[in-house]
Amino acid sequence: MYLEDLELKQFRNYTATKLKFSPQINILIGENAQGKTNLLEAIYVLATTRSHRTGNERELVKFKEDTAALRGTLVKQPGKIHLELILSRKGKKAKLNFLEQAKLSQYIGQMNVILFAPEDLALVKGAPAVRRRFIDMEFGQIDARYLYNLTQYRTVLKQRNQYLKQLQLHQTKDLVLLGVFSDQLAAFGAEIIAKRITFLKELEKYAQQLQDQITQTKEQLRFEYETSVAQTTAKSVESLYTALKQLYENNREKEIMQGTTLYGPHRDDVRFLINQKNVHVYGSQGQQRTTALALKLAEIDLMKKETGEYPILLLDDVLSELDGKRQTHLLRTIQDRVQTFLTTPSISEITRKLIRDPKVFRIAQGE
Ligand code: ATP
Ligand code: MG
Repeated sequence: MYLEDLELKQFRNYTATKLKFSPQINILIGENAQGKTNLLEAIYVLATTRSHRTGNERELVKFKEDTAALRGTLVKQPGKIHLELILSRKGKKAKLNFLEQAKLSQYIGQMNVILFAPEDLALVKGAPAVRRRFIDMEFGQIDARYLYNLTQYRTVLKQRNQYLKQLQLHQTKDLVLLGVFSDQLAAFGAEIIAKRITFLKELEKYAQQLQDQITQTKEQLRFEYETSVAQTTAKSVESLYTALKQLYENNREKEIMQGTTLYGPHRDDVRFLINQKNVHVYGSQGQQRTTALALKLAEIDLMKKETGEYPILLLDDVLSELDGKRQTHLLRTIQDRVQTFLTTPSISEITRKLIRDPKVFRIAQGE
């Protein structure tokens, strides 16, 4: 798939801009603070309805304005789709082919994007929340059911936590309602964990191939899902559900005492291993970077497999963070297959040689 054009209105530092893109490589060049990342963010938001760098969507609307609008034409099988997203104080409105969607989940997933920024190089050694967010954003785009379960899970989790607080403060003694919340949470949680395990296995397979190509060694790369749910060998939704319910039951007093839910996918993590050793702990800087790069590029393959289309790749300032070998590898992987937007303060010799016919956009002060 590729984004044919994009219109931005009152988005970040853009007033009104219309752009036509190349289906292959688009380079956004500009000095600092001119709007390069803002443009990538606009594409990311158009696809996912969320920003990759802020949870506060007010920030996306231009200073002193009320409403921002993004519109774009996406080309994919079987035909073009017109996407529109309006962001205002009242919330978000999403339209597909000019029809407003009652639920954002009906909108998300039409356009698939993968964003790679320097922070992602820290994916391996960052906090667990970073990895969970990464997983949820990527898997949510390719699996509507995953996204649904995630949304439901978050809602029930909030209710359950509020209820645990009430129990903690002795505002209620009713354990029946807690049981109802636990049951719902276990049901959605089990589906989420099962999907994460399945997708991670797939990602691991693709990442291993990429790792082999990048490093030209035979290091074994493993992604392990770490969950508080008892390590049952059978990872069926059913067994996960039973195990989660058991956890809630066994730890009721502890959860009430702390006034919060201590078990479930919102507390899980992913571990990266090279030759059985935790990359986070033992990996060199270079190994951590290569693992992060392999993971990101593996997503391209996973999305292709799950949706039948290559996603759109957004690279924010990452080329300069990678050495020559990794740059070459990255560019070879995407060339002729994946529509790519990359930002850079200037084009280096190496990228000039490696990228064929890019479309170049010069960005200054939101123009
Ligand atoms: P760098 O090379 O440093 O990463 P960049 O070109 O990627 O720079 P952006 O992050 O895209 O820079 O743009 C930053 C600019 O956008 C800043 O000048 C900031 O003040 C401005 N900006 C951010 N949010 C808004 C907003 N809501 N309204 C207007 N301007 C904004
Ligand atoms: Mg930037």
